[in-house]
Amino acid sequence: MTKIGLEIHCQLTKLESKLFCSCKANYRENKPNSNVCPICMGLPGTLPRLNKKAVEKATLIAMALNCSTPEKIAFFRKNYFYPDLPKNFQITQLNIYGDTSVGGTGEIMVGDKKIRITRIQLEEDPGRLIYEGSSSKNQITLVDYNRAGTPLVEIVTEPDFENPKQVREFLKILSDLLENLNVSDPSLEGAMRADANVSIEGGNKVEIKNINSFHDLEKAVHFEITRQESLYSRDIPIALETRHWDDQRKITISSRSKEEDLDYRYFLEGDIPWVRIGKDIQEKLKSEMPESIMSKKERYVTKYNIPEQVADVLSSDKYYSDLFDKSNDEQNAKEIANIITTDLMGLVDTREKREQSKLTSSHLRDLADSIQSEKLTRNSAKNALYEIVKSGKDLSEIISQLDLGNVSDENELLQIIQQVLSEEPQAAEEAKSNPQTINFLVGKVMQKTKGKADPKLTLELFKKKLG
Ligand SMILES: [Zn+2]
Repeated sequence: MTKIGLEIHCQLTKLESKLFCSCKANYRENKPNSNVCPICMGLPGTLPRLNKKAVEKATLIAMALNCSTPEKIAFFRKNYFYPDLPKNFQITQLNIYGDTSVGGTGEIMVGDKKIRITRIQLEEDPGRLIYEGSSSKNQITLVDYNRAGTPLVEIVTEPDFENPKQVREFLKILSDLLENLNVSDPSLEGAMRADANVSIEGGNKVEIKNINSFHDLEKAVHFEITRQESLYSRDIPIALETRHWDDQRKITISSRSKEEDLDYRYFLEGDIPWVRIGKDIQEKLKSEMPESIMSKKERYVTKYNIPEQVADVLSSDKYYSDLFDKSNDEQNAKEIANIITTDLMGLVDTREKREQSKLTSSHLRDLADSIQSEKLTRNSAKNALYEIVKSGKDLSEIISQLDLGNVSDENELLQIIQQVLSEEPQAAEEAKSNPQTINFLVGKVMQKTKGKADPKLTLELFKKKLG
């Protein structure tokens, strides 16, 4: 039997500042080693000052994952010597002296499978090492401390996953949840990283470190299972070891032997007092928690009668559900859900495209209203949407600019119908007895009007003319 456990590292990218100083949490736009101060560099004589917002956000994550939340939390020093760690220790959390991490045990359902959460801890991110040259022949290693001290939440699971597919489903649920809580943007480079442990057939546990994206996590797990199965089938023992994910070659490679917790010489961080998160504070946090994805989905189905599958897509993506909730007025909810899930999704499928998009909720409302009042056909609305996303102009301006308005003038339509009938004499004859052929003729009118003819009126006029 295959057992997979995960340690997910998630940066709290929505925070302003680092975990223990006022340097920016968003280190990505800075020149190397410019987003630093004596505190995050660990210079003598400095003291850390805990970011209250980070504790609140981490607690929210614990609550959303149904974890227990202790009323008092503590921080520990994890001592190790590595160039990305300027202090030579990392401030983190630990549960060996009772539950003192922001989150204790919890669980989350992945399909029918229950995944148990072991704990959730708040800690500081180390700096970043940048290797010059190919990975096998590193000439120089550069270090950038801009990231050192960034608030990081670690989510540790029990080895409950049985295959890479469950891992993938869990990651999708987790990143949607983190985005919905407004604590993190999973699409930012390096915001979500992971370690995994894999064992098969009751054998030794192999730890895989250094997986820098959720996308690669599934691949790494898959690779490791295949590697172990191949050894197992040849009766070669599987070593208890730590392996690194090589994201260039997409394989795991053996690295140092596994450190035990003992090697880190954990001790209580005396520079940060215990933090009280009493029931009163927890209740307040709970009341401010955004609506969950599950409850959004239920609301969309019961209140607006939106099909379950569509509601699923809408609710699990914060960008879409925010747009939907802001723009719909019940009457047009179905139409707006339709525009988002059939046309908009293809136009804004990446983070960059969403940032560049000029679409607002009032654009969506105008589009849906125009379709419902038959001012625009769905096809024209799709063309208009493309223009709106690009330019942000008002719908009315785009309709006149692109001449998208419906052709619903009877005389104009009759002229086009006459033209089609004379061009298609055989179909015209057949249509008198076969309603299917009328649809073919309506299609011809649509072609001539570039999809702008009012379909209902066109059909009526044909029936009158042929009947
Ligand atoms: Zn700093």
